[in-house]
Amino acid sequence: MSEHLIKKVVILGGGTAGWLSAAMLAKTWGRNIAITVVESDEIGTVGVGEATIPPLTKLLTFLGIDENQFLSRVHGTFKLGIEFIDWYAKDHSYIHAFGAPGQPLGILPFYQYWLAQRLRGHNVHLWDYSLTALAAKQNRFGRLKQVPNTSMDGMDYAFHFDAGLMAQFLRIGCENSGVTRIEGKVSGVNLRAEDGFIESLTLQSGQVVEGEMFIDCSGFRGVLIEDALKAGYNNWQHWLPCDRAVALPTTSVGPLKPYTQARAHSAGWQWRIPLQHRVGNGHVFCSQYMSDDEATQILLANVTGENLAEPRILKFVTGRRKESWVKNCLSLGLASGFMEPLESTSIHLVQSGMTRFLRLFPDKRFNPLEIAEYNRQTAHEYELIRDFLVLHYKATTRSDTPFWEYCRTMDIPDTLAHKIDYFRQHGRLLIEEDDLFRDTNWAQVLIGQGIMPGAAAPLAHAIGEDDLTDFMKNLRVILDRTVAGLPDHAAFVQQNCPAVA
Ligand code: FAD
Repeated sequence: MSEHLIKKVVILGGGTAGWLSAAMLAKTWGRNIAITVVESDEIGTVGVGEATIPPLTKLLTFLGIDENQFLSRVHGTFKLGIEFIDWYAKDHSYIHAFGAPGQPLGILPFYQYWLAQRLRGHNVHLWDYSLTALAAKQNRFGRLKQVPNTSMDGMDYAFHFDAGLMAQFLRIGCENSGVTRIEGKVSGVNLRAEDGFIESLTLQSGQVVEGEMFIDCSGFRGVLIEDALKAGYNNWQHWLPCDRAVALPTTSVGPLKPYTQARAHSAGWQWRIPLQHRVGNGHVFCSQYMSDDEATQILLANVTGENLAEPRILKFVTGRRKESWVKNCLSLGLASGFMEPLESTSIHLVQSGMTRFLRLFPDKRFNPLEIAEYNRQTAHEYELIRDFLVLHYKATTRSDTPFWEYCRTMDIPDTLAHKIDYFRQHGRLLIEEDDLFRDTNWAQVLIGQGIMPGAAAPLAHAIGEDDLTDFMKNLRVILDRTVAGLPDHAAFVQQNCPAVA
């Protein structure tokens, strides 16, 4: 068996995907495998990708990285969710807050009981029962494992960080763990004559880098997976029509918000990601309905603080590689697909893709069944996330611009149409085991975007109206008290993880 073990892995790309993959490989395999990262300073990285979702906290634990130290280095802040402004209608907003609102009662999630009360005519607001939504609204944050004196889950959170500093942070850790970095631009990919597997990469300097397994983290272009191995691409622009972004960092002004903001504009939306030393801003838009200049003007008119750089245009095509793993090449990050940054899922897909790869780690015989299984699971994961993203565009009442009219009336995947219909009937959600987004995520976005079910699950009526009213009142008191006791977000950051150079 040992003669079949893979001993040399080459990662092409030193962006977030490349270094995160290297860190996970090094942590799992130690020095049993030689890991080489090839990157080109001349090409650089995409330089955006600064908002994350809660599973990243588990990855830091797995990698043995101290959260405070990490946040200090990457000038990070905490993230409790995403505020969506003007999506369902102009002057309307809601937050997709991390963690479940309320407390489950028996086998039903809390939102079913909330729904039962709504349908009885009580004017109750779902997010008034969400610890993270309440804390976000007041710019407060604390690491709470549990709501004090209750069995309720505490604060679920993620991070905002500086993408450049993140890659640097991971790189230092990787190099300390024995990962080799080679600076250089790949000019040739050498395939084995007999089966088309990648044998080595030739750099512009003439250096040849040999490997047994290659991980393509080369960004949008997919130097190995697409240029060399022709994996093909499933284009999802008809469902996710935005195809460009203009990015612009600004100085920080105002309170340090512990959440991302996503503000819809006439042909796309604008992100605002608060970091310790600056704010990351960007306008994601659809080039069919808006020029680069117009998108830039809209962004410039809607940022606060001083501009720290020139606005930068990025182009992308939403979709995914038809096969993420081909022969001895796995693609991760932008090389494997991009569904747009609306729910900050891209970096997570590197984490989950690498986790899956480590579970199905091949030997030099490269069993096609393992490769097919990896590709099957990855395709499914992407499709489940895609549906969640499409929901944000489809569930709108806006028809004030051709872009929103298109989104409101577009055909959607059958899987999403079925989910929405089912929810409308009883507020129930069909969540698959491997869906990253759980029922409380779906419920918040569905309800936030105006899809209100006509009935609650019958079991939600098993608790009498008065008992439920009392329960919800008590819950509110507990949550308000808990949030009032939390520190201000900026003060918490300053005390626990202030930025260091
Ligand atoms: P890149 O950062 O592009 O890195 C590619 C690497 O490959 C570089 O090191 C480059 O030098 C190297 N390379 C390429 N070609 C060669 C060659 N020929 N020779 C040698 N080296 C080469 N994700 C989130 O999770 N949250 C977000 O909020 C978010 N926002 C985003 C906003 C926008 C507008 C975009 C476009 C993306 C966003 N993403 C977000 C996605 C996120 O940026 C990426 O998933 C993440 O940065 C990983 O990128 P990467 O490492 O795959 O690619």
